[in-house]
Amino acid sequence: MSFDLILFGGTGDLAWRKLLPALFQSFRHGSLPANGRIIGVARDALTDEQYRALIASRLQQVDLDKRPTDEEFARFAQLLHYLRMDLSQSSSYAALAELVKARNASTVVMYLATAPSLFQNTCQQLAAAGLNGPQVRVVLEKPLGHDLASNRAINQAVRAVYAEKQIFRIDHYLGKPSVQNLFALRFGNVLFEPLWRRETIANIQITIAEELGVEKRGGYYDGIGALRDMVQNHALQLLCAIGMEPPINAHADAIRDEKLKVLRSLTPWTAERLRNHVVRGQYAAGTVGGQAVPGYAQELGVPAGTQTETFVALRTEIANWRWAGVPFYIRTGKRLAGRDARIVVNFRATPHAIFSAPAGAVNRLVIHLQPKDGLELHLLTQGEQHSGAGGPRTTQNLAPAHLDLDFDKRFGSGRVGAYERLLLDVIDGRLNLFVRSDEQEEAWRWVEPVLHHWEHDTQGPRAYNAGTWGPSASSAMIARDGYCWHEEQ
Ligand code: NAP
Repeated sequence: MSFDLILFGGTGDLAWRKLLPALFQSFRHGSLPANGRIIGVARDALTDEQYRALIASRLQQVDLDKRPTDEEFARFAQLLHYLRMDLSQSSSYAALAELVKARNASTVVMYLATAPSLFQNTCQQLAAAGLNGPQVRVVLEKPLGHDLASNRAINQAVRAVYAEKQIFRIDHYLGKPSVQNLFALRFGNVLFEPLWRRETIANIQITIAEELGVEKRGGYYDGIGALRDMVQNHALQLLCAIGMEPPINAHADAIRDEKLKVLRSLTPWTAERLRNHVVRGQYAAGTVGGQAVPGYAQELGVPAGTQTETFVALRTEIANWRWAGVPFYIRTGKRLAGRDARIVVNFRATPHAIFSAPAGAVNRLVIHLQPKDGLELHLLTQGEQHSGAGGPRTTQNLAPAHLDLDFDKRFGSGRVGAYERLLLDVIDGRLNLFVRSDEQEEAWRWVEPVLHHWEHDTQGPRAYNAGTWGPSASSAMIARDGYCWHEEQ
């Protein structure tokens, strides 16, 4: 097997920080197929040598378990090439076509790590240059549009020249080892499936919290906001992985069919639900990690009077036989009290209590996605300890304790990272961890009423202090159901 990976946006932030380090890691681990070529594409005038030198220096700055030695990088560098090209100019595609056709690799990956505004034209031009044969795969980075109509327009333009099975839409959350483990947990074990339903589960909470603010990208972020940036894609994909029915096999379409059914079963928005089941927030100045930080409105590039949300919490349900009536809560935001992505499955209390247990203590499965990567199963145990006080023995009291499976400790640092996994899957042609167009469109269809509601909502986002868990309305929303967010570390 031989492959060409054309990295459009080869000098961009995503390429430097994620894609090239991931390619280097898979080269180092020996998982990158041997006969490969990686061609970075951008408008800068660079020679192959200059591009390699830039990559070498970037690999010194990114998060790697071990820095490359000169000898190791020299071997990796043999794969690396650079092509100067302006994607908006149709005349510049001929050189690329010549380069690719001359080698005739068995797999050609077109990775579009560029602004989505270039996707449609780039795909059309690639096809016009004859670069859409069956050996070609095209990878699209998020965001794929900013609403249903723009998402459809991109999908239609790309599908006009590539078949769906050639299109790899990235949601890098799906590449995270902990998310793949979620599928393994649910569909590779018998333990949880009988319990995975409304009779035993009280509620499910998905949190994706960031400590960082918008950094220097305020101008870019302001046109997007938390709902589009995190909920429409990552959070809904996690909800699908938790809520879907067991697929008939592990093939991409079997999995994607089941995820699509979940999206189609989400309770439709009504005026009442939009008012009571959605909270949007925007961070004000506060303290994060002991440092005073500015509010969102004071960040570089953020326009005055902005209404963009940096926080969203919402409640939904999956209206089917398995889940009817079980609330699914999603919350995500910037400048929150910690960096923490987790899914919490709260089970119901026992139907009849013969022991006394601390208030609110229930069985709980916590799936940690980042920064920790693992599972905790919270149980109630007989936790009697010597009191030493000589008082009466209370043998029937229960105390919470948990089983802790830390995947980093259990499997070590050699685990395959999200972008590494996804890049290898593209090269191998495995679509399981990529999002199909109908899933993506359904997710947009579901979030759009929230966006429209906000357009006419004069109240605007609620302020929360940086370094907290968001506006108090988020806790109030969940408290109305008798629950609270699970926040302990
Ligand atoms: P970026 O830093 O602005 O990089 C854009 C890249 O595209 C540069 O290499 C740029 O090089 C190239 N480019 C722009 N216009 C071009 C043209 N007409 N012809 C050829 N090359 C062109 O952006 P980024 O942060 O890497 O993000 C790229 C995409 O990935 C965006 O859609 C972003 O939303 C998405 N994404 C980024 C991240 C991240 O962590 N950065 C994460 C998820 C998704 P020249 O300007 O020199 O041509």
